[in-house]
Amino acid sequence: MTATLLDGRATAKAMRAELNEAVAEFKEQTGVTPTIAVVRAGEDPGSVWYANSIKKTMAGRGMDSQLHVLPLTATEEELVALVAELNADPSIHGIMIQEPMPKGMDEAAVKAALSPDKDVDGVHDVNAGRLANAAPAGRPPGVRPFFVPATPAGGMELMRRYGIEFSGKNVVIIGRSPIVGKPMALLLMRENATVTVCHSRTKDLPAVCREADILCVAVGRAEMVKGDWIKPGAVVVDFGVNDVEGKMIGDVAYAEAAEIAGMITPVPGGTGPMTNIMLCQNLLVAAKRKAG
Ligand code: NDP
Repeated sequence: MTATLLDGRATAKAMRAELNEAVAEFKEQTGVTPTIAVVRAGEDPGSVWYANSIKKTMAGRGMDSQLHVLPLTATEEELVALVAELNADPSIHGIMIQEPMPKGMDEAAVKAALSPDKDVDGVHDVNAGRLANAAPAGRPPGVRPFFVPATPAGGMELMRRYGIEFSGKNVVIIGRSPIVGKPMALLLMRENATVTVCHSRTKDLPAVCREADILCVAVGRAEMVKGDWIKPGAVVVDFGVNDVEGKMIGDVAYAEAAEIAGMITPVPGGTGPMTNIMLCQNLLVAAKRKAG
């Protein structure tokens, strides 16, 4: 069997066109340009690259981005003060705090300073808590609106657009980080999937994975998941981004997995391109909520 490609590049391209129209319509109706503020301390190369890519993606949609960079020597108080200033600025609809933060800084305290209404990256405990408490799809939500981190939101959207059904499916997720694995588990549970979350202490991981109708992998270990870990016909979603001798490699051994899976995301070109576009979508939602 050769798996169908879950093509994140093509899907993100289609979504960009849809967002362009939605943003233009919003701007015409309100005269407001959705604007994100990206905040960081220092010049971590990955953060610099990501901030540039956010700027480009936002500009392409007709949205604005501002970059606020403090020196690496900035204190927690200075970062919190900057976030408070941006919270109070009515022209800013979304704020993203880039990691890594300077060594020794209490990251939780900085994130807690964000206004949950501007937390378009879904990192504030209020947004994480609302996602955790939200009722299953199809029932009254039971919580106030919230933001979901862009990477798992992108993984869900990619699967939805390929018509993948979640209800009653056995889903296995490898990874339990607050930014990918855990929200992915909560999103799939909301969609009535039966979810198993695996991590570094899971026993006999290959056997657990073989039970999965949908296998989502967010570990950060190149080609850890082998072809014989995959149930024939399963959907495989690889969030992994690993630099192996200058080449981007996923957490799944793609060539052998693609012979067994029914559908699979490539790396690059799978979940990656979906992330920025979901951030844009979250920003538009934040601007719309503010505009009432
Ligand atoms: P973290 O390092 O925060 O989490 C990794 C998870 O993998 C942890 O839960 C850890 O378990 C688990 N793990 C580590 N080793 C093993 C193992 N041998 N067996 C089973 N589980 C293991 O990573 P992130 O969630 O932030 O990122 C995961 C991957 O996704 C990375 O490659 C990252 O680059 C990528 N990523 C991709 C994005 C995209 O846009 N596509 C965006 C964000 C991240 P434990 O909890 O026990 O430590």
